[in-house]
Amino acid sequence: RAFLYLSAAAAYIFGKKLMPEEVGLPKLAAWIGDIIPTVNLVVAILIIGLSMLKFSEIMADHQRQLIRANEQMTRLANTDQLTGTYNRRFMYSILESEKCRSGDRRPYVIAILDIDNFKQINDRFGHLAGDKVLQDIVQIILGLIRTGDVVARWGGEEFLVLLPNTDLFNGISVMERVRKTLADKVYESDGITFQTTLTIGLADSTGKQPIDDIISLADERLYRGKREGKNRVITCS
Ligand code: GH3
Ligand code: MG
Ligand code: MG
Repeated sequence: RAFLYLSAAAAYIFGKKLMPEEVGLPKLAAWIGDIIPTVNLVVAILIIGLSMLKFSEIMADHQRQLIRANEQMTRLANTDQLTGTYNRRFMYSILESEKCRSGDRRPYVIAILDIDNFKQINDRFGHLAGDKVLQDIVQIILGLIRTGDVVARWGGEEFLVLLPNTDLFNGISVMERVRKTLADKVYESDGITFQTTLTIGLADSTGKQPIDDIISLADERLYRGKREGKNRVITCS
């Protein structure tokens, strides 16, 4: 742009000097002189109109990009990178809203799932094999829960599932299916096959009991399941 401006200025200054005196511009016809202001006006309006149109297009495009970036940031902040499921932070916000609604006494079940002897899988077959198991478990859970149920990675090899509008009986049935599906699965790493299991602690809402108490109860039951031999669903203390 600077080059163009300088060229224009140079053409004006030197062109005038170089132009022989006798060469004058031809006189314009009178009618051309008459329509020049109108043409100028129309051209100016067209330029301004088109510029505004382009500007609003650019602004709309920027806004779309901003919305997309915002959505992407929210998704990244709420999900666990490895498994693609919700992370603990986001699950907390969902549990908070469930806590607010718990006054209406709708039943719900909390399940905490912990992979058994997961450290051994990492130690024997490598971290990538462990990662694959974590990803698989999320897919198994997602394939067996209903719309409206929420799963999150609660810790390293722990998951929390919230089953709203569910009683303990149905909660057990879903979690037994999750446990069994994983237990039946055979993995292979470098020609060696291995299997893995889950211990699951379950607790259901009883009236207006705070949701944190339900989570603690599910956690207690999970650890009881570990002590009692793992690979099981525990529902009472
Ligand atoms: P338990 O049956 O008592 O639950 O034993 P455990 O071995 O499953 O439990 P422990 O707490 O001893 O080990 C958990 C392991 O989970 C240790 C840690 O390296 C592994 N882990 C945590 N996050 C990840 C991950 O993102 N990927 C992999 N591959 N491993 C992970
Ligand atoms: Mg654990
Ligand atoms: Mg474990």
